[in-house]
Amino acid sequence: MIVLGDQLDRGLSALDDYDADRDIVWMAENQTEATHVWCHKQRLVLFFAAMRHHRDDLRERGYEVWYHALEADARHDSGRDFAAILTVAINKCAPQRLVMTECGDHRVQTMLAECAESHGLALQVRPDRHFYCSQDAFDEWANGRNTLLLEHFYRSMRRAENILMDEDEPEGGQWNYDKDNRETFGRDGPGELPHVRRFRPDALTRDVIAMVASRFGGHPGHIEPFDLPVTHDEARSALRDFIAHRLPLFGDYQDALWTGRHFAYHSRLSAALNLHLLDPRDCVDAAVAAYRAGHAPLNSVEGYVRQVLGWREFVRGIYWHEMPGYAHRNALRAQLPVPRAFWDGETDMACIHDAMANVLDHGYAHHIQRLMVLGLFALVAGVHPYRFHEWHMAMYLDAIDWASLPNTLGMSQFGDGGLVGTKPYCASGNYINKMSNYCKNCRFHYKHAIGDQACPITTLYWDFLDRNLDAFRDNRRLVFQVKNLEKKREDADFMAALRDRARELKRRIEAQEFL
Ligand code: SF4
Repeated sequence: MIVLGDQLDRGLSALDDYDADRDIVWMAENQTEATHVWCHKQRLVLFFAAMRHHRDDLRERGYEVWYHALEADARHDSGRDFAAILTVAINKCAPQRLVMTECGDHRVQTMLAECAESHGLALQVRPDRHFYCSQDAFDEWANGRNTLLLEHFYRSMRRAENILMDEDEPEGGQWNYDKDNRETFGRDGPGELPHVRRFRPDALTRDVIAMVASRFGGHPGHIEPFDLPVTHDEARSALRDFIAHRLPLFGDYQDALWTGRHFAYHSRLSAALNLHLLDPRDCVDAAVAAYRAGHAPLNSVEGYVRQVLGWREFVRGIYWHEMPGYAHRNALRAQLPVPRAFWDGETDMACIHDAMANVLDHGYAHHIQRLMVLGLFALVAGVHPYRFHEWHMAMYLDAIDWASLPNTLGMSQFGDGGLVGTKPYCASGNYINKMSNYCKNCRFHYKHAIGDQACPITTLYWDFLDRNLDAFRDNRRLVFQVKNLEKKREDADFMAALRDRARELKRRIEAQEFL
């Protein structure tokens, strides 16, 4: 029975009929998965520490677990490749079949199927009950529809699960309170913010930190401070902390940005959720209970429920509905590599510098830092959407292929041409200035598209519209932006200077130079 690193639920379907006299649970850390993308050091610590704690939890509950651990010194490894390590186990115990729960990564699912076939073994793949919506149920919802809109899916999920419903109507009379979730921190900033519960690494996690430091020391990101939950109990404690201290203002300040305030009112639970240390039902139920108890307002609770019950389930459904072809989409034919600053945070761009400080320190950025700072810059520059996804997989602790690909290639980079988002999330520096204090501390000026002070995001925003105008002309959600560009195009000198500056910025990204 195979248990993968992102399948750490206590009620995993693969183990449903476990028989101690007959069955063995198999788990493996391995070099190829650790280096498939150039992983952030804390990402490796999180996965291996959570897996080793789960191994011990399973053993305490009576399961026999064969666990392949990576050694601090790679020369002592008993195997490097996932399939090779599995082959050793198969040869040793001669199983009659392999059993697993649906995978979170099409590549790994394919690799395991091929490995089973090469040994003449049946591979039984069981549904993943972690999610509210099964793959079959999503396909049934999606098949035959002209467009796959989140809002339609979300409403069907609210109804099906009877969450935030008042009989047949949405709680409060509206399905969506997004317009109430766009406050900024104002001129004076957020003031004192609630502390986020942090978890001191125990001896087992400290061993993993030492192993990763010794073996993967050249990988990006800082290994300390590592403070994430790695057990089910810790994850539930992190959930309680969010519900008690940050959920009430989560809705209002969902989109707000401020230098150094990296968690603000966000939950920071996505890594625990995506490793299945937390059940999404516990998250949704706790948020709804807080609303019913008068502890949190509806705009916060509905906003959170929309993320977990709506968006998270939607992107997972899209992933399996569209794979494997989805990974190859590149609707805007973007070709640039990920900028160097996305690996080391070194840049004069204050917004990118601050978001990257969070990524390097914590392997995290909240959703507006991801979508409207780092994602926005990659989009308007023209970074290849799959390369952007690979970077996201490397640098974020919560990134699993099913979640990352639709969020990056689709939502953030418009690589799917509008399947998960009906317009590209493009904006000039003006948006960042409105939502943050970044521009006040930046050597560039958010309003300038040309000249020495020109904000790279503003320059590339106009260039993005200019070079993709044919693709965007018929998009009803881009009418104003297209009109504004057409006005700019009346000034030939401005456009020539803009295109020159944009060309130089893109050359520097291509050459991995400082920005
Ligand atoms: Fe970012 Fe431009 Fe604002 Fe600087 S001026 S912080 S680069 S948006």
